[in-house]
Amino acid sequence: MKRIFPALCALLLLTACGPELPPEDSDRLQIVAAVFPAYDFARSAAGELADVTLLLPPGAESHSYEPTPADILRVQRCDLFIYLGGESDAWVDAILSAIEPEGEVLRMVDCVDLLEEETAEGMQGGHDHGEDHDHLGEVLSMDEHVWTAPRNAAAVTRIIGERLAALDPVHAGEYIGGAGDYARELEELDRDFAAFFAGLPDRTIVFGDRFPLLYFARAYDLDYYAAFPGCGTQTEPSAATVAFLTEKVREEGLSTVWYIEFSNHLVADGIAEAAGVGTARFHTCHNVSRAELEAGETYLSLMRANLEALREHM
Ligand SMILES: [Zn+2]
Repeated sequence: MKRIFPALCALLLLTACGPELPPEDSDRLQIVAAVFPAYDFARSAAGELADVTLLLPPGAESHSYEPTPADILRVQRCDLFIYLGGESDAWVDAILSAIEPEGEVLRMVDCVDLLEEETAEGMQGGHDHGEDHDHLGEVLSMDEHVWTAPRNAAAVTRIIGERLAALDPVHAGEYIGGAGDYARELEELDRDFAAFFAGLPDRTIVFGDRFPLLYFARAYDLDYYAAFPGCGTQTEPSAATVAFLTEKVREEGLSTVWYIEFSNHLVADGIAEAAGVGTARFHTCHNVSRAELEAGETYLSLMRANLEALREHM
């Protein structure tokens, strides 16, 4: 341990008789992923060769999670810690300010070209990551939901493969091969989305929900409208926002108002009812439910299901 904090000492005492951790002398690579997309990409590269742990529990809201003492120890001891980066995961920053990881770290936002957070026309408020962001003239922060574009997912996967290869050169070919196989499937997914959207006369999509899909929307040149930007904490849109989105659905002749996973979809339901159309779910892969995790769902399978839902509803 490079730095000693009283709080961390307390945590260490707590964990001494607490959760199970992998033995420190394990010769298998220990990879810890903060969020589901990182976990999914890492396990594709690791195959059976390394242990990949997901910190964020299934079903948890990814930006407001409170890490446990065991989480902190896992991050400190692992060979590679993969997290999103950006401003929103304050719990990851809290871990990294409490300890210094003994292994390497990889930020997904460093793997691809970033986009600035956007507030689309009609959207409620704007920029709600963190506490007080309403200062005039403030520079918008970068949007960190990079994995929502499959080509970005492929790029991150290949980089993880290279990092694992460097950490465990004996198995370099297997890590790069595993990552490459998955990345090629993700690139095929990207081509399938592109082909689907290319065949549509109108690429307008309305989300009665938060919209962590800026990279996805840009990848396929979609015109999107949503109740809230990114992953804000807002849940109550103004009457003006609801009216705007309802009018958009009518004007564009859309058949569906979209909502995202773990949403109560009340806003989407309200807009859909007012416009006389239906609703459907788009899974942003931000996190998965316990049932999804146990069923072996992957980023690829969830995004393939999104493509099917789009085919059905657009
Ligand atoms: Zn988010």
